[in-house]
Amino acid sequence: MFDNLSDKLDKALHILKGHGSITEVNVAETLKEIRRALVDADVNYKIAKDFTATVKEKALGQDVLKSLKPGQLLVKIVKDELTELMGGDAEGINLSGNPSVILMSGLQGSGKTTFSGKLANFLKTKKSKKPLLVACDVYRPAAINQLHVVGDQIGVEVYSDKLTNDPVAIAQAGIAHAKTNGFNVVIIDTAGRLAVDEVMMTEISTIHKAIQPQETLFVVDSMTGQDAVNTAKAFNDVLNFDGVILTKLDGDTRGGAAISIKSVVNKPIKFIGTGEKMEAIDVFYPSRMADRILGMGDVVSLVERAQEQFDEEEARKLQKKIAKDQFGFDDFLKQIQQVKKMGNMKDLMGMIPGAGKMMKNMDIDDDAFKGIEAIIHSMTPKERSQPHILNASRKKRVAKGSGTSVQEVNQLLKQFNQMGKMMKMMQGGGGKKMMQMMQG
Ligand code: GDP
Repeated sequence: MFDNLSDKLDKALHILKGHGSITEVNVAETLKEIRRALVDADVNYKIAKDFTATVKEKALGQDVLKSLKPGQLLVKIVKDELTELMGGDAEGINLSGNPSVILMSGLQGSGKTTFSGKLANFLKTKKSKKPLLVACDVYRPAAINQLHVVGDQIGVEVYSDKLTNDPVAIAQAGIAHAKTNGFNVVIIDTAGRLAVDEVMMTEISTIHKAIQPQETLFVVDSMTGQDAVNTAKAFNDVLNFDGVILTKLDGDTRGGAAISIKSVVNKPIKFIGTGEKMEAIDVFYPSRMADRILGMGDVVSLVERAQEQFDEEEARKLQKKIAKDQFGFDDFLKQIQQVKKMGNMKDLMGMIPGAGKMMKNMDIDDDAFKGIEAIIHSMTPKERSQPHILNASRKKRVAKGSGTSVQEVNQLLKQFNQMGKMMKMMQGGGGKKMMQMMQG
């Protein structure tokens, strides 16, 4: 996410970090570099200019040059301003109605249908809501089918009516259906076009007026940079929407849209889409995003994701096994499965301070555990529970079965043994011992 921008900002701020004494000249130089980095990331020139002007003003106000650690203080000012620019605090969505009606808007291909599904899934699994999806794209039967596919995938009902070509009537019938069938959230997916045009704008605004949703969300593809900002403005002029959804942040986006959109339409970004899967949705936290852009990682989100996957019952069983020396490859496999559920590797790495930068040029496979899993799957159940029986001929068979080499099998066994030792030490209250081992 935003590799290029992070890189350039890091270089800009590096000038300061490296200097023994910081002068007005190198602060000015840094600010110029920051502005250039923002413009390169497709941030509107005026926004970038205002941004550096504010940072400069704050730096002067806080007497950065006379402070104990001028570099660090300036980085903090930059971070705070970046957070402010992206919206300050995170903002939730309004679910006050019964049912609460959420209207989705945006261009075709922006990711509206996918996001409608993600949001329904999010509200169902994380907020214990009973959502209904409504398909209002009367022009493309394929779009209606796509919403049904998404609905099936997440186990959420989809209301559609292919015989009606009036989107307002469908939206109203959908809401009525929700009321009589106990759905407490209605998510209405609408038709988009490839570019902003009058017909689409009139249609979405007619639906908007007729159903008066609690929440109108505008979905936009972050890869489209400045265009994203212009489209947001056009939709906001007509709908006065409540929030923005930025999709495709997992791609090679430059980041301009995320940084500029709030200050242009003065509406918060509420969620981001980070992949094609239904789970690839995150609440947008401006300050965590600023941390990520500045290469400071996002430990809070990482811990949250780990906690979501944490199962106390499983953990207790695991502890018992470790204590009794019964931790085998089947348990190892389960652990891998849990880590995989947290997200793709590159994304996770980006949340560890400093690691994102280090890993940037490495080609991290989406499925980094593929080889390990193949090796484990090639073992017999007995070998998995008692790895010590793996002798030379067994190793050879496992390597052949998994399409790897004996060397790789040996390496995994070694890692497995080390992990076992470490886990035992942690259990035996040997945290100190482990720290010594890691340091030594
Ligand atoms: P709609 O026309 O606005 O309804 O857009 P769709 O929901 O059909 O999405 C268009 C394409 O973008 C599809 O191929 C989606 O799988 C893809 N897509 C949507 N959201 C994301 C995302 O967050 N990341 C990635 N990589 N692809 C996405």
